[in-house]
Amino acid sequence: MTDATGTSVPGEPFDVLIVGGGPVGASAAALLQLAHKDARQPLRVAVLELNRPAATAPDAPLDSRVSALSRASERILTAIGAWPLIPPSRMQPYERMRVWHESVQPRSTDVLEFDAAYASEPNLGYIVENRLIQATALTAFESAGGKVIAGDLSRLHVHDRHVELATSAGTLLCRLVVGADGARSSVRESVGLAAEKSSYRQTAIVANVRTELPHERTAWQRFLRTGTLAFLPLADGCSSIVWSADDCAAEPLLAMSRSDFERELLRQSDGVLGAVRLRTDRQSFPLRKLTAHRFTAHRCALIGDAAHVVHPLAGQGVNLGLLDAAALCELISAAVRTREDPGAQRVLRRYERWRKSEIEPITLAIDGFNRYLAHGAGPLSRIAQRGLALVNRTDEVKRFFITRALGLAGELPEVARHPPSGRPSIS
Ligand SMILES: Cc1cc2nc3c(=O)[nH]c(=O)nc-3n(C[C@H](O)[C@H](O)[C@H](O)COP(=O)(O)OP(=O)(O)OC[C@H]3O[C@@H](n4cnc5c(N)ncnc54)[C@H](O)[C@@H]3O)c2cc1C
Repeated sequence: MTDATGTSVPGEPFDVLIVGGGPVGASAAALLQLAHKDARQPLRVAVLELNRPAATAPDAPLDSRVSALSRASERILTAIGAWPLIPPSRMQPYERMRVWHESVQPRSTDVLEFDAAYASEPNLGYIVENRLIQATALTAFESAGGKVIAGDLSRLHVHDRHVELATSAGTLLCRLVVGADGARSSVRESVGLAAEKSSYRQTAIVANVRTELPHERTAWQRFLRTGTLAFLPLADGCSSIVWSADDCAAEPLLAMSRSDFERELLRQSDGVLGAVRLRTDRQSFPLRKLTAHRFTAHRCALIGDAAHVVHPLAGQGVNLGLLDAAALCELISAAVRTREDPGAQRVLRRYERWRKSEIEPITLAIDGFNRYLAHGAGPLSRIAQRGLALVNRTDEVKRFFITRALGLAGELPEVARHPPSGRPSIS
């Protein structure tokens, strides 16, 4: 039973309650809701979200918090009906990635170039505003009959057969709680799931810029000895920069005037896109790494940044989180269809094994790129720098990396495996 605000009255548990309606939690909720929409006994799914983004006017300037979404993510967002809600004027497909180290010339053959055409794909992915991914996924969930509860989790208590959550919207009960509440997850802390946390001692500086030369539907990334500078192409012809700079370098970059910062951008990008003009203020994000030792506990599962936070240099955070969401929902749905408890230990264990085995090698690889390409001048760094040029000359290896970038490697959930037209219906 629910009251007028949609809040569950204790005694009437939700089957699944997702804490955090960010891009990952909202998508998980929509996947579950849609998979059981027409079932005789539909699953009762709700999202608790503290800070729902306001609707974006179609002609509003593009926000500077964007994500590079992989093909797998596109398929998941299409399956829940969020993808068609993203206006084409606000998403930019990118067809190439050009990655180079500061020791080589940006237009030389030593630049690693990934082209969608190598994999016979129309593009490598899309650059989309985070708030739009979140907003469209929440809308898709509600359109399928799901409930978004505005509120903040303060405490939770796990009982044998249910979980009790104290929130600013009242007490909520559920059979399974999913922590999708980001890097500082209250769910993770409340159930006592320990995590390995460390600082990259870097700060990501994010802004939108206009460049003198066109972005050529290309994601540009230069490894500097003090971090990484990326230019992601935007639908309005501008680019979103993500400059992951060592803290000691980031501090003066944030403090300097706009025109000095623009000159630094020109210098550190090696002029590859010509002169650069800031279109938005600079925002900064301290970069931290986090890996939860376990992704599940009794009647609890973690997905997205609540479970793992990786360095943004490979643009993988949302993409990995959406695959967590799809994997967990696939296992829950299969269990519920055979009348099993959605919080059954067997289901949660399988989810944990599946996603941990995918996430761990990716985290190691991303950290390796950061340590040896974005830093250091030792022998391993020199080998890694030469490796970029070697990858560029080896078609097989290149194809391997493109498949990874498309998010189509590893053990994929069903919903991410096929293009929407070739996939069996989600229900
Ligand atoms: C500079 C930068 C660039 C990036 N670029 C990319 C990229 O190109 N591609 C990519 O895939 N990833 C990228 N990422 C990573 C990506 O932003 C994150 O991985 C992603 O936002 C994680 O999504 P999430 O839904 O798990 O968590 P979040 O986005 O953190 O969402 C968590 C949600 O939970 C809610 N919440 C939190 N606490 C509570 C509570 N107590 N009660 C109720 N609700 C709560 C919050 O309001 C929020 O809506 C980048 C990250 C950074 C820092």
